[in-house]
Amino acid sequence: MQIVQRVVEMQGVCRGLRRGGAVVGMVPTMGALHEGHLSLVRRARADSDAVVASVFVNPLQFAPGEDLAKYPRTFEEDCRALEREGVDLLFVPQAEEMYPGDAVTTVSVLGVGDRLDGASRPGHFTGVATVVSKLFHIVGPTRAYFGQKDAVQVAVLRQMVKDLNFDLELVTCPIVRDADGLALSSRNRYLSAEERKQALVLHQTMMRMQQIIAEGGRQSEALLRGGMEVLQRVAGVRVDYLSVVDAHTLLPVTSAARGSLVAVAAFVGSTRLIDNFLVD
Ligand code: AMP
Repeated sequence: MQIVQRVVEMQGVCRGLRRGGAVVGMVPTMGALHEGHLSLVRRARADSDAVVASVFVNPLQFAPGEDLAKYPRTFEEDCRALEREGVDLLFVPQAEEMYPGDAVTTVSVLGVGDRLDGASRPGHFTGVATVVSKLFHIVGPTRAYFGQKDAVQVAVLRQMVKDLNFDLELVTCPIVRDADGLALSSRNRYLSAEERKQALVLHQTMMRMQQIIAEGGRQSEALLRGGMEVLQRVAGVRVDYLSVVDAHTLLPVTSAARGSLVAVAAFVGSTRLIDNFLVD
């Protein structure tokens, strides 16, 4: 696995791959890799001639007071895992390399980027859209792989790819969970043993709402009531949002249909966790 830190070098190597006719699969990450990330890499490996991953803790997507400084960094382990999964090229820029002092251009996905997590974390998706645009320009992948775990991110990036005519395909991969159902997240390592147990309530809430739908309940109001009953059972869990929305626009829907997204965000202690499912 070749490791590259400089934008110009990365552009050169990727240009070479494209000229050689390679199908390039890209997996952007912030590191602290777990099986969720690796599922994206495996999918990219199966689909592509060359697999490119990036590890970059993007300062632009963290608001002041969020966990940028303490965000887990496990670079040596990440490298070993990516190498094991057959990644060909790993991009690990420093912050100054991605955002030189004179950089002033950002990408904002209005509307979609301001809903759900975007409403709770103002500016977050401008940070995400900006860094992902830059990575797409630097690498020029045929396909880029993202996890359904971050459903709002997927909606924002789909809109961005469409609006800005990025010549690539976005591939969304299913949520990978621990054996007990908790969605894997780099932030799970912040949880104490007690909080780890409490965190399960997000998955349980999603399961309850799935069950209501399976029993024929489609009205969002009833769904949300049923979900809230589960979610509010655990003291120590503070709800940020529980919503039934259109998966593309992220606007609320009155009744859940195929293509609706049910999503939750909640603080467990001081850790903000998310979970979701698509209605089928
Ligand atoms: P992050 O490092 O948190 O920016 O995540 C990098 C990519 O991994 C994003 O596309 C995430 O959606 C994806 N990802 C994170 N956790 C999971 C998970 N549990 N299952 C599937 N994909 C995930």
